[in-house]
Amino acid sequence: MTRQFNNLIDGEWTAGERYTPNVNPSNTNEIVGEFASASAEHVTAAIAAARRVFPVWSSYPCQARADILMRAAQTLRAESQRLGELLSREEGRALKEAISEVIRAAQIFEYFSGEVVRTGGEIFPSTRPGAEVFVTREPLGVVGLITPWNVPIAIPAWKIAPALAYGNCVVIKPAELVPASTWEICRILMEAGLPKGVLNLVMGPGRVVGEAFLASPDIDAISFTGSVATGRHIAAQAVQSQKKVQCEMGGKNPLIVLDDADLEIATDVAIDGGFFWTGQRCTASSRLIVQKGIHDRFVARMLEKMAALKVDHALKDGTQIGPAVDERQLSQNLRYVDIAREEGGDVHGGGRLERETPGFYMAPALVLNTQNHWRINQEEVFGPVACVIRVENYEDALAVANDTQFGLSSGICTNSLAASTHFRRHSRAGTVAVNLTTTGSEYHVAFGGRRASSYGAREQGRYAMDFYTAIKTSYVRA
Ligand code: NAD
Repeated sequence: MTRQFNNLIDGEWTAGERYTPNVNPSNTNEIVGEFASASAEHVTAAIAAARRVFPVWSSYPCQARADILMRAAQTLRAESQRLGELLSREEGRALKEAISEVIRAAQIFEYFSGEVVRTGGEIFPSTRPGAEVFVTREPLGVVGLITPWNVPIAIPAWKIAPALAYGNCVVIKPAELVPASTWEICRILMEAGLPKGVLNLVMGPGRVVGEAFLASPDIDAISFTGSVATGRHIAAQAVQSQKKVQCEMGGKNPLIVLDDADLEIATDVAIDGGFFWTGQRCTASSRLIVQKGIHDRFVARMLEKMAALKVDHALKDGTQIGPAVDERQLSQNLRYVDIAREEGGDVHGGGRLERETPGFYMAPALVLNTQNHWRINQEEVFGPVACVIRVENYEDALAVANDTQFGLSSGICTNSLAASTHFRRHSRAGTVAVNLTTTGSEYHVAFGGRRASSYGAREQGRYAMDFYTAIKTSYVRA
């Protein structure tokens, strides 16, 4: 019988109203588990538990708080093989990358374990005689975390770890397609000694569980990662009730390749950024803006490298690209390939693939001779589809790169210090990469975008403190 996984409410693993199967996209005959769907009442109970225990957790001895986060990190490392396989099975990510994501989650818990004792403040002289001014940080209270399906363990980790480190209580709702990895983080934190009620897990659809977060007066802040449409809705609702809110959303990220670029580096970066993780990355480089002098060599090398890519079951040895996460996402990818063709693009690859097991397999697609204003270059596909836009010079490349509603990440491949420096300064994106993929982010530095890609404070590193704490200013005369 398929194992059932329950919600975590006030420290108890609580049965759901119904259970949703978590299907392996590499083999749709395999059910990873059945996951409880929470009702609005379950969410209310979870939020109430978090609210009740907040005075305890916010004043918990900081060493004990740091130790819990560190023990969780150790378990994530110790179980990284099994958890990586689980992530692969629920999302379809190639195993090596899935294990790396688990290790990243461990690094995030290690980092924020250290941050517990680094949450200092500042002391200022007062303009009033005999007084001093203290500026300190305090936890917000109860934070609601809402996460997407494409980064099943690192995104929950980069929200849960700072929330807990800075003394907040948490209610988390993972994406319905991939609840297992978040369930495991919750189990690990409870085993690491987290007091009951500090962390609550409520699984299920956004329209029930997510909406209950928005409606609750007892949630002080919401950190969301997902699509632009959902993020805008959440931000608007949160502002109505004056909840603090942070939204990280989609992208349509440009990678510029200049004539003087190293061809091997540029094509490695474009293959990784466009196709690895099945293109299911908010930071994927889906617009390849290539200068005319290197264009033909770049395209030829890309097609050579694409021909060697192995698309297969995520757990199979040698697989580089797993399936799309589900039928809906695969259909969306294939529809966009058709749109690119109808718009006049010259499509290479991009068809549905059959493998030994039934799954959502697709060949990566490179679309040549495209225009930046086409839908295929303006809308997020979220699949292994990259388009080439040919340009005359660097100035044109920069203008094309910035001509988008999004602003998450961007990249340039060049050996010119002048061009890369100019691009770093003038790219309208939150993250810029030089001779590296647009997809890399590191846990100790700020992550986030601009314009339609992002709303609110940055995530990760010590910048996370700006979201997960409130500032207090105290004036003191001794
Ligand atoms: P989505 O917006 O469909 O769902 C994200 C989460 O919001 C899920 O947990 C979902 O259940 C929940 N949700 C849906 N409706 C809701 C509602 N009415 N109220 C509250 N919650 C609701 O996004 P997705 O398909 O899971 O994720 C893919 C998207 O996420 C892509 O656009 C991708 O670019 C983006 N993404 C962004 C980042 C980033 O850091 N910028 C990282 C990863 C993914």
